[in-house]
Amino acid sequence: MTRIGIIGGGQLGMFICQAAKDFGIKTSIFSKEKDFSAKKFCDSFFIGDFKDENILNEFIESADYFTIETENIPFEFLNSIHKKKKVYPEPKIVRICQNRLIEKEFLNSINGVKTANFFSINKFTDFNASIKKLNYKGILKTCEFGYDGKGQYKIFDKNINQIKKLNLNNFILEEFLDFKLEISVIVCKGKNKIISYPVVRNIHESSILRETIYPADISDKTKEKATKLALRIAEEMNLYGILAIEMFVMKNDDILINELAPRPHNSGHWTLDFCETSQFQNLIHTIINGSPKSPKPTGNCKMINVIGNDFLNKDDLKEKYKFYDYLKEEIKPFRKMGHYTFRN
Ligand code: AMP
Repeated sequence: MTRIGIIGGGQLGMFICQAAKDFGIKTSIFSKEKDFSAKKFCDSFFIGDFKDENILNEFIESADYFTIETENIPFEFLNSIHKKKKVYPEPKIVRICQNRLIEKEFLNSINGVKTANFFSINKFTDFNASIKKLNYKGILKTCEFGYDGKGQYKIFDKNINQIKKLNLNNFILEEFLDFKLEISVIVCKGKNKIISYPVVRNIHESSILRETIYPADISDKTKEKATKLALRIAEEMNLYGILAIEMFVMKNDDILINELAPRPHNSGHWTLDFCETSQFQNLIHTIINGSPKSPKPTGNCKMINVIGNDFLNKDDLKEKYKFYDYLKEEIKPFRKMGHYTFRN
């Protein structure tokens, strides 16, 4: 029986385990946390630190192929697995996506691909010189380990006292973009085939995804442009696995890439209910036989994230919509607790 090891046991890991079970594939999870969403759905799990070699070796023994559900994993850990078995996407791809500076440099090296202007920041004087060039309108982000707006500071004027207090090592300063809207495209690529899911529109609140809408309310020309960009990035990366590409559509319909995620993505949760093959099933098809299947949508829909205390209304949500509970131990502000989907 085929076995897939997943690094990380959050909701994405949980959905990968569920999809694997439907195909008769066994799953094992490596988790840093004691309690995690995928616990009830995997066949075995390993809880520990990324530095614990014994657990790492047991985990490597537990599966034939490996994948990730977060990019925040030390490169050395992924590489140790990849030396013995295969990790999809490969560690060198994850390396690009886990560091905002490396990611932006990679993206801008591709002909026809653009991002916001950016500066590498390692001390306050770097910041001071760069924010002047941006007319004091920027967004300062940690290069690594930031997600859902964590480690981000918006700057709108010359009042930069809060920045002076930070230890500015390994940061990136981006120009603050006055975009029209945000979209994303998910690509799956194996040795035999590449597919892309249709473009969706994403609405964020406090830098956290709140809503995904299919189809995105943008022109066919812009959709085509976004899809071509996503496929080109996946080809340039030599992707084997899944990649989500978040983009900004500017007021003149220009597209700038925001960031890449080498794993299933929150903006693809709608594919569980409204596509012929979900992003999780397609990750597995790609890993196992190199051929993702049809991503064709089966209806217009919306996905809404249940964040923090929204979860207290879960019974109401269960009655009205298809509701997914991420089975988290504790409600925390800004924590993704679940999502619901409905036909639009
Ligand atoms: P990120 O973690 O980089 O994806 O940022 C989270 C959210 O913050 C994005 O989805 C945008 O809504 C907003 N954001 C990020 N970067 C910028 C930018 N350079 N200009 C304006 N808004 C941004």
